Amino acid sequence: MTVLLDLLNDDPRKREAAAVRHPEKAHRPDTPLARKPEWIRVKAPGSAAWRETGAILRGGGLSTVCQEASCPNIGECWEKKHATFLVMGSVCTRACAFCNVATGLPSALDPTEPERVAEATAKLGLSHVVVTSVDRDDLEDGGAGHIAQTILAIRAACPTTTIEVLTPDFLRKEGALEKVVAARPDVFNHNLETVPSLYVTVRPGARYFHSLRLLQRVKELDPTIFTKSGLMVGLGEGRNEILQVMDDLRVADVDFLTIGQYLQPTRKHHEVVRFVTPQEFEAFTTIAYAKGFSMVSASPLTRSSHHAGADFERLREKRLAASR
Ligand code: SF4
Repeated sequence: MTVLLDLLNDDPRKREAAAVRHPEKAHRPDTPLARKPEWIRVKAPGSAAWRETGAILRGGGLSTVCQEASCPNIGECWEKKHATFLVMGSVCTRACAFCNVATGLPSALDPTEPERVAEATAKLGLSHVVVTSVDRDDLEDGGAGHIAQTILAIRAACPTTTIEVLTPDFLRKEGALEKVVAARPDVFNHNLETVPSLYVTVRPGARYFHSLRLLQRVKELDPTIFTKSGLMVGLGEGRNEILQVMDDLRVADVDFLTIGQYLQPTRKHHEVVRFVTPQEFEAFTTIAYAKGFSMVSASPLTRSSHHAGADFERLREKRLAASR
């Protein structure tokens, strides 16, 4: 069954919840709501397997970006027991204009979390796991040590599971990136999110060049790690700006590009300037492959961790084939 998931409506309870999660956005004027086109259709959550996934995650006291970011793919992914862990709490120190994760002062790190993530990975039977986190600008190393601990705990508990991390930018955190790379994730993902001209409004706490350099540095430190980055489209960017970002990512030797449609979590978030058509996504795929990416996933509902396991397998096979 497919339904049109409508995360935006005028339910006063939703508005109240949004104000609690995003106090920094409460004073902003409401942004207009764009009606979703017919191609933004997702599977309704609620199957038995979906509930089982939720029970395992709740049992481990774990957060997921699937829930915190109101991901539209949650019905499909959780039914397959695919979930993306959100570590270091569910409160972020940044306040990006597109993100539904709550903003505020996070709690202290829980040293038991890496083991709990590893246990849940085993219970879910994941052959490929994706771990992401909130931004922790309050921590000296930005949480890099905790992410590294999580990688090591998963590897100890599930030695055959491949590990993908989707990290913050570790802006002004000397030595942080090196800690994560030393733990040797199979995939290092850091999303550029949008084109440089929109950073000031969409991702004001981040710096485009720093994010790009972070990805390049991973490859310099350990060329065996696959690097990956993602963009949201529909925020008002120009087509040529997207093509320029592709070129920048290739210069940084990034292997895998994801591009998906931005969807507005609440009226206080950045508006959807336009819905990019499936045909335009297909064109982005063709162009990105022509520019040299080993793997490209571009569609309206593409998210960094959507089908991450299957895509990783294809990426690994491509590298193997190239080395023969
Ligand atoms: S696409 Fe990623 S974040 Fe969304 S539901 Fe699937 S695993 Fe979770």
